[in-house]
Amino acid sequence: MNGWTLVYEGFDPAEESLRETLFTLGNGYFATRGATEESHADDVHYPGTYLAGGYNRLETEIAGRRIENEDLVNWPNWLCLTFRTNGGEWLDLTEVQILEYRQELCLQTGIMFRHVRVRDRQKRETTFQVRRLVHMGDPNLAAIEQTITAENWSGSIEVRSSLDGRIKNTGVKRYAELRGDHLVPLQTQRVGNEAMLLGVRTKQSNIQMAQVARTRIFREEICLGLERRTIHEACYVQQEFAFEVSEKCPVRIEKIVTLKSSCGRGDTDCVDEVLQKIDQLENFNVLLRSHTKAWEQLWDRCDIKVLCDERTQLLIRLHIFHLLQTVSPHTINLDVGVPARGLHGEAYRGHIFWDELFIFPFLNFRIPEITRALLIYRYCRLSEARRAAYSSGYKGAMFPWQSGSDGREETQVVHLNPRSGRWNPDHTHLQRHVNAAIVFNIWQYYKATSDHEFIEAYGTEMVVEIARFLVSLTSYNSELERYEILGVMGPDEYHDAYPDTGEPGLRNNTYTNVMTAWVLWHTLRLLDCLPVNRRDEIRETMGLSDHELAHWDAVSRRMRVVFHRDGVISQFEGYEQLKEFDWDRYRKKYGSINRLDRLLEAEGDSPNRYKVSKQADVLMLFYLFSEDEVIELFSRLGYPFESKSIQKNIDYYLERTSDGSTLSSIVSSWLLSMSDLSQSWLLLGHALESDVSDVQGGTTPEGIHLGVMAGTLDVVQRCYTGLMVRDEVIWLNPVPPQSLQRLWVPIYYQQQWIHLEIRKNRFVVKLRKDARKIVKVGFKDQVYELDPGDSREFQL
Ligand code: BGC
Repeated sequence: MNGWTLVYEGFDPAEESLRETLFTLGNGYFATRGATEESHADDVHYPGTYLAGGYNRLETEIAGRRIENEDLVNWPNWLCLTFRTNGGEWLDLTEVQILEYRQELCLQTGIMFRHVRVRDRQKRETTFQVRRLVHMGDPNLAAIEQTITAENWSGSIEVRSSLDGRIKNTGVKRYAELRGDHLVPLQTQRVGNEAMLLGVRTKQSNIQMAQVARTRIFREEICLGLERRTIHEACYVQQEFAFEVSEKCPVRIEKIVTLKSSCGRGDTDCVDEVLQKIDQLENFNVLLRSHTKAWEQLWDRCDIKVLCDERTQLLIRLHIFHLLQTVSPHTINLDVGVPARGLHGEAYRGHIFWDELFIFPFLNFRIPEITRALLIYRYCRLSEARRAAYSSGYKGAMFPWQSGSDGREETQVVHLNPRSGRWNPDHTHLQRHVNAAIVFNIWQYYKATSDHEFIEAYGTEMVVEIARFLVSLTSYNSELERYEILGVMGPDEYHDAYPDTGEPGLRNNTYTNVMTAWVLWHTLRLLDCLPVNRRDEIRETMGLSDHELAHWDAVSRRMRVVFHRDGVISQFEGYEQLKEFDWDRYRKKYGSINRLDRLLEAEGDSPNRYKVSKQADVLMLFYLFSEDEVIELFSRLGYPFESKSIQKNIDYYLERTSDGSTLSSIVSSWLLSMSDLSQSWLLLGHALESDVSDVQGGTTPEGIHLGVMAGTLDVVQRCYTGLMVRDEVIWLNPVPPQSLQRLWVPIYYQQQWIHLEIRKNRFVVKLRKDARKIVKVGFKDQVYELDPGDSREFQL
């Protein structure tokens, strides 16, 4: 292992599904799991190809109900490439003796590499080496190169290359009872002498995909003009060819694939488009060069260099890599959101959650155009959000907890507890706080970029409509003279109701209430920032009266926050009356208690009865806002709140959080940077291991956790550098943990590149020479102006 390469030695069937996720290759347009070329879906392997925005909806009858789910579709498998020697069995790693097996993922070049040497029953030894790429420069291209060497024999080899659409979504065992047959065959055909085509479409969303594969065989760089047999069946096409090999003389197979979909482009005929492309397909090595170049440019913008242990460096890069494979510069041309589990598997059906809150900050300071595109995905679903608010009796726009193709609520109505085998009602759609997250994201993006055009054309309208919705959620408690929000859930998904009541929802979740106050306040601030003309236009078209704005101001100052008797902020009204949980007993009984909800439900109990949280809830406030901002927010609400209370709240809730969501460790690491840097670093290490070590025991094979991946980067980028944008000044207040001997982070702030570097006890800020304007940097209460090429050094 070095800072760039993830390496696995040996073939381990039990670990294969995890490696497939970690070795996923993608380019923001589509991604393909790192399944081996010769494999198909079975107990060990799960090949999967997912398209950004490639959803389909199906109905299933379950637990006596008709349920509709929208899934990110598993598209035809373009990887299929296998061989057999001397008319024997097709390659099956479980049937041969594996002498050597090594897999590598080079993050720098985006190349997956596999080296295998096997011995068959006839004692013939064969080595094959595979390189694979999903082109980062051209979103419609992918390629495989396989080099086969007969080590101690000569004879014949048959190769089979295919495109296989006879597949279903079966990647998540919990969803096994739900339908996954999304694809309908369109056509298969041989194309010219060397290629074949497969066309499919989805059943309900009617998205077409066409794939063309050109397979060539080379000996000593000479392409063998081999006859091939093409076999078709519905949703499947294959080509087979045979040739002779001599001992120690390698042959090289190239499979170049071009893939296009009609997703988001109406009825476009993508078959024609891929067919036109086939004549222009380059050879593997040419594609490799342009692909590597595209990655090189991305790394220039996105790398973080750390000097500490090698694994930390590698995992930071692994997280950057997977983030950029899910959303990349290609995303800018697509109408898609960022799925919480990447394009790496089928968990959460490829839906989009509030995880954007953890994902956007890294992008804001690297490739903000991607954040912009992802925010416009929300904007394009504003009318659906308006419809959702209206049909639930609210005003404005209510964005869904889980979003997919068209922005309707995609949260499932029942979910399976695999421990108890029971399908239980799912109330998580009551997490209305996702709306506040969208406003927060818009605000953060605006601060990092000063993108006035976005704010005027899209941002303000979304913010105003969300403010309207949140206000319509509130009700006035005349006794307390406070506004309240009833019947919602906070981020902590362990609490969806009061104990022993049939009614879902909680009263006065602090996070939701305080975020509502913040949204209203900042909507007013945003309107004030607009040029007068534009503000008047928006007010006129949206019918924003003085009276409505005055009401928002009033609500923003009088939202209710419930406190415990000892002054701790209550997660929600009534939390204080819940029972304390016997953590030790449960740890002893179950070992891992991350998913307490499942454990307790299987016992006939419920986390609703206890002071236990799945993840940060109240603590989100201290994660999103600085100490000063929190104090300002509370004082605006008329609640006395001192900075020393922050630590008290952190201690109280950290003790009661099971980290059932990987997002939680990000928040904990961030918060502990204020009081215990070495603990913060330890938790960052834990968060970095989330996927590579599959810390939740079986969830990573179903897809990466993009929130925690991007969140770890943000801990390094913003938390440890103390980066904060305020009043057009980029404030820095570095707090590097001791183990972090050196840190190098480039920041793209308002179209200028700034390099931040921490070296032992020195901190260097440098504005790149090609910057177009002066940048103001704040350090320890003092503001400095940096001209292009200037650097400043501070003592830590
Ligand atoms: C967490 C949510 C998160 C979702 C998707 C859930 O387990 O509780 O906060 O949005 O996963 O990552």
